Amino acid sequence: MIQIHNTVTKSKENFEPLEEGKVKVYVCGPTVYDVGHLGHGRSAVAFDVVRKYLQYKGYDVIFASNYTDIDDKMINRAKEEGIAVEELANKIIPEYERDYAALGIAKPDIQPKATEYMEAIVELIKRLNEKGYTYSLDDGVYFDVSRYENYGKFSGQNLEDLQVGARVEVDENKRNPYDFALWKFKKEGEPAWPSPWGEGRPGWHIECSAMAWKVLGEKFDIHGGGLDLKFPHHECEVAQTKGVFGDDSFAKYWIHNGFIQIDNEKMSKSLGNFFTLKEIFGKYDPQVVRLMFLQTHYRNPINFSDVLLEQAKAALSRLHDFVRNLKNHTSNSNDEFEYNDEMLKIPFEKFMDNDFDTSGGFGVVFEFVKAVNTALDSGSKVDVDVILKALKEVDSVLGVIFPLKEESIPENVKKLADERIAARKNKDFEKSDDLRDKISEAGYTVEDSADGYVLKPKL
Ligand SMILES: [Zn+2]
Repeated sequence: MIQIHNTVTKSKENFEPLEEGKVKVYVCGPTVYDVGHLGHGRSAVAFDVVRKYLQYKGYDVIFASNYTDIDDKMINRAKEEGIAVEELANKIIPEYERDYAALGIAKPDIQPKATEYMEAIVELIKRLNEKGYTYSLDDGVYFDVSRYENYGKFSGQNLEDLQVGARVEVDENKRNPYDFALWKFKKEGEPAWPSPWGEGRPGWHIECSAMAWKVLGEKFDIHGGGLDLKFPHHECEVAQTKGVFGDDSFAKYWIHNGFIQIDNEKMSKSLGNFFTLKEIFGKYDPQVVRLMFLQTHYRNPINFSDVLLEQAKAALSRLHDFVRNLKNHTSNSNDEFEYNDEMLKIPFEKFMDNDFDTSGGFGVVFEFVKAVNTALDSGSKVDVDVILKALKEVDSVLGVIFPLKEESIPENVKKLADERIAARKNKDFEKSDDLRDKISEAGYTVEDSADGYVLKPKL
């Protein structure tokens, strides 16, 4: 039985989907005004694992994650760059797709864009209006939080104590400081859509309520996102959706992943201490980054550093070396290493059932690798296929044990390695070093071995 820490109840609960065998998940995706940073990567990897573990356990999962392609940030950035908002989205979305694919993240089953759901957005605001939750000001239509008595309960905010944060808009005309825009009237040069209240565009929060409703229905199993979205974004989503469809609607479980910190401070654009995924991928294989994310439980903060990446790199290369050795293993010994699920799958599931504890899951994997390595080193007979099969099942969730990239070495790299061996035989070490550099530039490392050399993709 999977247990999930539910933000709503602040406790671990047994996971029971609304419909047996099926799970519907909605995860807030990025606002596509700039390329993805480590925080985006962490959230996307965390929910990729949630999705894949549910599938591993036999659930039929429908996974939806959106792109926010219209909001203030989109408009401001498009203005700065002198391009249309749509053009900006079309430029940035492929960047996310490339980065996420490199991290081994499976594409969502449904990937709605806010601009494609304007009818649903307008429809939701209409219904909120009919129920008396809205009022109009000069610049738009607002949600009156005092009309929704549970406002603040979801995120456990004491609204009186709370400073008005960056993502709560200050406006003296609003009835309450936390009232938020559902619809913003058109300003010169901004993209706009028709509505009963006049041309304009939606506020950020209503977009997710509308997309989740349209693609998954009034009620679904899991809603996820980064901890930074808990308030006000998710608080507002809850108020809107439950305001329209009632208290029993919307997600049954809410999952929030922790922050990335740098020197124990939250990594954020406003603090200027953030790294884009592209920057990190320039130095480290994306699989190293995936492993680094998953070595910490998804709810805990990750205190990011080069040391952490170096550790993940060493761990990844240990895993890949292991798989390589295993595949090449032959033995004539009578001693046999016999695999059973108690060694890998059962303890792995024990950790993963406990609120997707990938950190504990990796502990199991490394213990197992150690045990099999001992058997390999002692020359024991090992049923390679059985072990590979078990590892593949576990890796269908973790996505790091087997290399993502094709391991076939290009001919030109092999040729360089052959030339290097020849140079070494001639004691031409300068040439040998030069060839090693060339191999490295091509993305490989070369190590000497008893029967020549071993080439590996660089991590
Ligand atoms: Zn959202």
